[in-house]
Amino acid sequence: MTDYGTVHYSCVDCSKKSCLKLDGQNPDFCLTTALSEAELDEMRAKYTADEQIQRAAIASAEADGLFYGQHTRVEDVIEFASRIGAKKIGIATCVGLLSESRTLAKILRKKGFDVYGVCCKVGSADKTRLGISEEQLAGFRTGRIMCNPVLQAELLNEAGTELNVIMGLCVGHDSLFIRHSEALCTSLVVKDRVLGNNPVAALYTVHSYYKHLLEPQGTDSAREFLSGGAEVGK
Ligand code: SF4
Repeated sequence: MTDYGTVHYSCVDCSKKSCLKLDGQNPDFCLTTALSEAELDEMRAKYTADEQIQRAAIASAEADGLFYGQHTRVEDVIEFASRIGAKKIGIATCVGLLSESRTLAKILRKKGFDVYGVCCKVGSADKTRLGISEEQLAGFRTGRIMCNPVLQAELLNEAGTELNVIMGLCVGHDSLFIRHSEALCTSLVVKDRVLGNNPVAALYTVHSYYKHLLEPQGTDSAREFLSGGAEVGK
């Protein structure tokens, strides 16, 4: 990692893509050219030392390579699950996406998979159990039943699912779910309550409708945005 003052340049700052094109035009902060042969060998060994990892890596390369531009993401999930030999698929769903999850379950069952789904509100635990006070709860726009991604993961672990599909878990809840899931996870729906579960729209429109996202911290709109987030995390 090259430190250019306060900005640590990395792949997100690169327009060369020489790691793909192999044209030797790599920028001077290139993460690929910074790697030693020993580090690359160590990385390669990580794919081959674990049979599950190797199988998943090959399956995803096949699903991508053989059906590029032809398969929807739903079909990608089916293809990947088949190729890793998964028979039982877990669905970790947001309560607000139960209908879509039911449709997904129907599709997967038609394809021969055993399906087991767990909703985010499973356990019906109160948010005060997390250490959130009644005073804070009063300011929330959501109800008092907590999303329980750890329990979702543990119930799917107990059920022995071999691939878990995330259906619209909130930011952070998905992080906790992935941390606790024993099976590999993939996302089918990524929640965005404003953009119809299409979060990339904010990036596509960052020079128009969502230009406030590019305003530096300290501006009024940025402060407003941050204070909204800070309240929830208190
Ligand atoms: S690895 Fe190097 S060439 Fe590839 S995107 Fe990152 S900086 Fe650019």
